[in-house]
Amino acid sequence: MVIWNPWHGCKKISPGCANCYVYRRDNSIGRDASIVTKTGDFYLPLKKNRQGNLKIKPEDGIIFTCMTSDFFLEEADQWRQDCWDIIRQRQDLSFYIITKRIERFSECIPPDWNDGWDNVTICCTCENQDRADYRLPIFLNLPIKHREMISEPMLEEIDIKKYLEKGLISCVICGGESGAGARPCDFKWIKKVRMDCIRCGVAFTFKQTGAVFIKDGKTYHIDRKNQMPQARKSGYDYIPGANIADNIIYKLPDRKKLFERIGRSNFRSRFRLLQKEKDYISKNGMETIKLHAKEFVKNRLAAESPKNDGQQTPMKGHPVFIAQHATACCCRGCLEKWHNIPAGKTLTTTEQDYIVDVIMEWIDKNID
Ligand code: SF4
Repeated sequence: MVIWNPWHGCKKISPGCANCYVYRRDNSIGRDASIVTKTGDFYLPLKKNRQGNLKIKPEDGIIFTCMTSDFFLEEADQWRQDCWDIIRQRQDLSFYIITKRIERFSECIPPDWNDGWDNVTICCTCENQDRADYRLPIFLNLPIKHREMISEPMLEEIDIKKYLEKGLISCVICGGESGAGARPCDFKWIKKVRMDCIRCGVAFTFKQTGAVFIKDGKTYHIDRKNQMPQARKSGYDYIPGANIADNIIYKLPDRKKLFERIGRSNFRSRFRLLQKEKDYISKNGMETIKLHAKEFVKNRLAAESPKNDGQQTPMKGHPVFIAQHATACCCRGCLEKWHNIPAGKTLTTTEQDYIVDVIMEWIDKNID
């Protein structure tokens, strides 16, 4: 990984900028981060060593571009075309540009941009729902070969599924805020975006917890040095088809407490077996119903990313379907929320047996 900062300094434009690390660092050395200046590294990708060879080689990794500013900042309009020239000359390198100014993209690209350059990834940053709803429709309509999205600092729960469904964003990165005055980040917001990514076949990275991290309603203050390792340790990254969620450590809920919780849920507790479902059970017997439950769990829930996840269990038509909704065993989102079983992993036979047992316990309790 290489960082290339052709200019330094930026202007705050949205809520995510409130505690900008560029401002924080500059402030600590008495520098004004709002003054935008060209840096001595402007030609970094073209620099050569004494032997006349280019210093940066493709094996050095991605070139993270403009990390102490915004590439599409108005104040840098006079320099940007020269940067494009450099990027054009280094087609052997991959440049990664993160921006909060995606609306300026069209007026900032070079004349030969056409439908995008292979060596440039644009990452649109959206810290809240308002910015996601403003920036993502613009982002998805631009000629870009490689698109990613980042929500960091993530300031609230965001729903981006309708944008991911377009199949144009290849990866979403989420993380909390660091530094003094950091705003909290709730793990459930992270899990919600991850779930949407899994359902849309999009890679997901949980980059860092941030300094103030909420998990299961408890607030944790996390040292800077632990914020990235903690996120990595959670195992909540997702790569479609890679089954990396198999490494997430979790604990199944206590069965008695689970049924008590379900009983307190207005939505879950309204499910009942009707007479026709009771008749179906007595006609076929509990063993057959259990076989059906096993089949439904295996075919509709067990895959790493089940088809139509969230809608795969009908609301009626079989006693097992009713029991699945009543016990929150109906989709991978509910299994994660109520049973702690992480989404994005292929269910083991032990996990499948657990789910079947919960379903059958509910049916048994509700048959009379
Ligand atoms: S756009 Fe980025 S670099 Fe610029 S002020 Fe906002 S957070 Fe800082």
